[in-house]
Amino acid sequence: MTGTTDPNRAAPVVAVAPFGSAPLIAANVIAAHVSGYLNLAVETLPPMEIPPDALDERRLQYNAATLIQAIEAMPIGDYFKIIALFDVDLFIPLFTHVFGEARQNGRVALASLFRLESHMDGSSPPADRVLERVAKIALHELGHLLNLLHCDDDRCLMHFSGGVETLDRTAFNYCRYCRTSLRRALRSHGTVNPIGS
Ligand SMILES: [Zn+2]
Ligand SMILES: [Zn+2]
Repeated sequence: MTGTTDPNRAAPVVAVAPFGSAPLIAANVIAAHVSGYLNLAVETLPPMEIPPDALDERRLQYNAATLIQAIEAMPIGDYFKIIALFDVDLFIPLFTHVFGEARQNGRVALASLFRLESHMDGSSPPADRVLERVAKIALHELGHLLNLLHCDDDRCLMHFSGGVETLDRTAFNYCRYCRTSLRRALRSHGTVNPIGS
């Protein structure tokens, strides 16, 4: 190992993969934001079937950890990171639901539209608001895949959001500290000019 970047190494590509009936427009919006914010090559994949084993018959929700494992095992291609998009309800044990899920430094992140499309009082937010929310979740989970932890700065995309109100208040950007960490993570994967600097 010399520590220099191999110029022949292919640039990392992120895939956005819609599952089930997750709308393609949301996948494309996520792809545009990943490309715009992180300066990475992104491909939107054709829709795939939701791994059926992930359905918890008792809760009628999909187990996020099981989904991540199943998608990691799927022959999806040689992508650097995969953002899997859903419109079904996701959960992890101990939580009633999650908007998204990713393991630190993992390869597959999940984001779901399910909890973003209606308010507690039954009213519906405008479509552009829903797309903004899911893009924020995707960028947050991708941050975890690039080894970022939660951030104390409530104006940062890596701030933990337990509800849509917090999510709506979160700024649509990473803070300076998180951007530095992202830049370091992306450089180590051979990206030449990450995050537009
Ligand atoms: Zn998080
Ligand atoms: Zn931050």
